[in-house]
Amino acid sequence: MDKATDNTPRVRTRFPPSPTGALHLGGARTALFNWLFARHHGGDFVLRLEDTDRKRSKDEHVQGILAAMDWLGLDYDEGPHYQTKRLERYRQAIDQMLEHGRAYWCHCSPEELTKKREAAMAVGGKPMYDGACRDKNLGPAPGAVVRYKGPRSGSTTFKDLVKGPITFDHKELDDLIILRSDGWPTYHLAVVVDDIDMGISHVIRGDDHVNNTPRQILLYQALDAELPQFAHVPMILGPDKTKLSKRHGATAVMDYLDLGYLPEAMINALARLGWSHGDQEKFSRQELIDYFDLNSVGRSAAVFDTDRLLHLNQRYIQESDPARLAALLPPFLAARGITDYDQAVLLACLPELTPRAKTLVELADWAEPFLVDEPAMDPKAVKKFLGPERVPVLERVRALVEAKGVDHPQELEQDIKSLAGELGVKLGEVAQPVRVALTGRTFSPGIFEVMGILGDGRVMARLNRALTLASK
Ligand code: GLU
Repeated sequence: MDKATDNTPRVRTRFPPSPTGALHLGGARTALFNWLFARHHGGDFVLRLEDTDRKRSKDEHVQGILAAMDWLGLDYDEGPHYQTKRLERYRQAIDQMLEHGRAYWCHCSPEELTKKREAAMAVGGKPMYDGACRDKNLGPAPGAVVRYKGPRSGSTTFKDLVKGPITFDHKELDDLIILRSDGWPTYHLAVVVDDIDMGISHVIRGDDHVNNTPRQILLYQALDAELPQFAHVPMILGPDKTKLSKRHGATAVMDYLDLGYLPEAMINALARLGWSHGDQEKFSRQELIDYFDLNSVGRSAAVFDTDRLLHLNQRYIQESDPARLAALLPPFLAARGITDYDQAVLLACLPELTPRAKTLVELADWAEPFLVDEPAMDPKAVKKFLGPERVPVLERVRALVEAKGVDHPQELEQDIKSLAGELGVKLGEVAQPVRVALTGRTFSPGIFEVMGILGDGRVMARLNRALTLASK
């Protein structure tokens, strides 16, 4: 691990979501990359809530974001900081810029600005602020804003750690507002002041922020601060190569918890959004920390592939300890109305079920027949496998179970095979009615394993119930 040494500044990354909605896949990927980069370099990861949009920021979204970070295991060394608690500091930074002639009060009214914008666009120009108040030396006034006094010529170049060098002509940038007329700082000002104060060494974020970077670099300079390094990671597309949206399925991280995904599958899928390590698909958390670096973040858009996520989830479910799965299952069982069940039975059936389930929702479905007193009977399965013609077979099986019990599945298997031979039918002709009798379904683990888990009493009760059904 490349630990920061004395002459390299300590690596400090941040994740600064705006709590105006749930944490989405793109945000979670940004959080993960910042977390991995900090962990890889033995640095710090800072969480900051950019909650200055007073209309759209909600405490429920803050709680949702914190819960998602927790679910994904993205622990932070500092924070959460809240921008709304730092307003005084932003005012101080703005005053400093005003004092040094790097910012100015602007009295242009919104109506005037709209008129100018429309006039500029009418002659094919850009709707940029014309700098009318730049040299007027105005002071504060009701409705006034403070603007950054930007350079009129020259250019800014920065070396993006993912995209390489990027240059912006200063003529493209107008004097941006740093203090709004309502007394609140703008995003650009607050983000820069925060990143300076919090000693952020690397700003890793989505490439929708590339255009903001030169403006922010100029603000660092106006505040006489050192620049962090910037890395803009590629955008995320759906499998059809259009921008990822609800059309492609769930986009909020916590929806995946409800859909029955394990956080490690989610982390793996998120890590692969733009980053790769050879063609390895599945990584432990430690492997991700060991291998992650910005050099291996690609420049082209990343595709979020739900099939890949599902496949990873299946593998992680298979590898999970039954006790852990049993602890995660209650909400998924409750969603099926199962709240009162025998924990020992659940633990006993899980090893049979995990190879079959891709999500915890599916796992709860597979587990249902083992946990309820009387499983729901699938009418199609009943029609096909529990008709009157099955009564003799079921009676023979019941007699075998009654005589021998279910504790020796291999013996029972032999007996039932002999029974099939004696009746001149394939094993399936015996097994399938028994399966439907025991589980209400045509799909289940092997019937002898099912019998072993259910135990004599329940097997007998279910065979009796099936015989009653079949005799009708
Ligand atoms: N609050 C901003 C966002 O959620 C942060 C952008 C940044 O990383 O600078 O997009």
